[in-house]
Amino acid sequence: MCGIIGYIGEKNCVPILLEGLRRLEYRGYDSAGIALIKDGRFHIQKKAGKVSDLAEAIRLLDGTFTATLGMGHTRWATHGEPNDANAHPHWDATKKIAVIHNGIIENYAAIRTKLVRDGHTFTGKTDTEVLAHLIGVMYEESKDLTTAVRHALAEVEGTYGLVVLSVHEPDKMIAARKGSPLILGVGEGENFVASDASAIVDHTRNVVYLDDGEIAVVTREGFRTVTIDDVSVTKQVQEVTLELSQIERGGYEHFMLKEINEQPETITNAMRGRLLVDQGNVVLGGLRHVMDKLLCARRFVITACGTSWHAGLVGKYMFEQIAKMPTEVEYASEFRYRNPIIRSDDVVFLISQSGETADTLAAAREAKAKHATVLGIVNVVGSSIARESHGGVYIHAGPEIGVASTKAFTSQLTVLALITLMLARARGMSEADGRVLAEEIASLPDKVRAILRNTETIKAIAHEFKDTPTALYLGRGANFPVALEGALKLKEISYIHAEGYPAAEMKHGPIALIDEAMPVVVVVPKDAIYEKVMSNIQEVRARKGRIIAVANEDDDEIEGLAEFVIRVPRTYGFFGPIINVIPLQLLAYYIAVARGTNVDQPRNLAKSVTVE
Ligand code: GLU
Repeated sequence: MCGIIGYIGEKNCVPILLEGLRRLEYRGYDSAGIALIKDGRFHIQKKAGKVSDLAEAIRLLDGTFTATLGMGHTRWATHGEPNDANAHPHWDATKKIAVIHNGIIENYAAIRTKLVRDGHTFTGKTDTEVLAHLIGVMYEESKDLTTAVRHALAEVEGTYGLVVLSVHEPDKMIAARKGSPLILGVGEGENFVASDASAIVDHTRNVVYLDDGEIAVVTREGFRTVTIDDVSVTKQVQEVTLELSQIERGGYEHFMLKEINEQPETITNAMRGRLLVDQGNVVLGGLRHVMDKLLCARRFVITACGTSWHAGLVGKYMFEQIAKMPTEVEYASEFRYRNPIIRSDDVVFLISQSGETADTLAAAREAKAKHATVLGIVNVVGSSIARESHGGVYIHAGPEIGVASTKAFTSQLTVLALITLMLARARGMSEADGRVLAEEIASLPDKVRAILRNTETIKAIAHEFKDTPTALYLGRGANFPVALEGALKLKEISYIHAEGYPAAEMKHGPIALIDEAMPVVVVVPKDAIYEKVMSNIQEVRARKGRIIAVANEDDDEIEGLAEFVIRVPRTYGFFGPIINVIPLQLLAYYIAVARGTNVDQPRNLAKSVTVE
């Protein structure tokens, strides 16, 4: 999820690696490290904190830390807290092989158990260190580094962009990619590996984009690429024409658009190694030790702020309707000062992207003081909420840079769906029913992808309504929070006043606002309450409101009622929000762009709200 750079050539690579790491820091980081090979020996420096902390540690070495072959990494932790030991590079057992890695090794726990049984000891908690040891084991068998990497990768499931160095073969870098981006930079007498071109464009604009399943063996003179099965592949060298800032945004105009488009991958990451489709079940390591508490709880309480609170509202529908668990949802800022009645058999979930949200953290402490079981659903590993909770689930959405949350929201919902399925199965749901839900969860990324491929209608709607002073968003059931979230996105980035309402509640007040100029966005999937929402749409129509419907592809009735229809694939009712929110994120985005606002850093807002 974070940054990789490798260098082999004639120059001292340390400044090149440090500068490359600084360029990669925009992706988010929590620690950084460098490994060099010089005179047949490894030299490694790694540190929790910023790249500047690492640079300072290296500066104190008084110029002794130099080499013409090396690699650097900025970490965005997924497994194990951000500390010195968990920072990359990681050694194998013999300390003759070092690895840097972006991504997640899904089956690391099983591999680690086996290695421990064979006598391996580990210094940290990362999945990467397990991979490094596995490559070491494979090297003992083949005595060839490339073969060892191939054999190890054949055994791992998950995602990786990685670079491997070894003192056994001190004149090469091995790079491999699956699911995490990785490129080679081709120079004169020098070559590079990087997770994106921003790290190397100062040195070369000639790059090779590695594809999934490819391994590159890079030397000073050149490179060759093979598959995991050792079939050689010919790669084209291409020229990078993008500017640095465009590269950072993955070629998108804004981080927010990049993050909206990442959602098929981030939703997949949230379920990676956790969803067992064949068994219709879910494993969540961070909840295993509190399973009794979850199953014997009197009730669940979800507390959060902003977008995370909306995720919590959807969670209530999932927990109550599927897992049959009474659930309350409350703003963390209210919860903390209300002196809430909490008992030791309550389970309190805290949802926060950053894991540092001041109100949510205070709510966690309040619930803990009242002896509840406190569980975090957070993105940032090792964050305060993660550390202070009794357990929890990381959403693994990767760094979210746009201030208005998008991918974190759908990942939070995915994790809530996983917890729901796990609890439902533990409370008696049959394997067959579980499998239906698991398959539905597994299908979500493709459905999101389908929406992202076809944004023309959304752009046209944005163009039509960009000058509206106000908008109303309606939904019912689990899609009521989607209406809230749609309205919030619009407010946050376009500064247009918007309100989300339960569709039926509209007639108790907001209906007075409706006239022929009022855009009314209605989320109306073909679920159990479809007919009810259609009646609400009629009520808006009767008052000449301009209806924008988010409706399923197979809905033939909606065309006659709505002025604009955004089509979305159908899914199981309570998972619908994960799909239905996507067009609303895009609508807010395109309206904001049309109005020329600062999409990634909207006025008055902060990404991580660490004040009350
Ligand atoms: N899963 C690895 C870790 O937690 C890599 C994280 C990253 O992509 O930076 O260390």
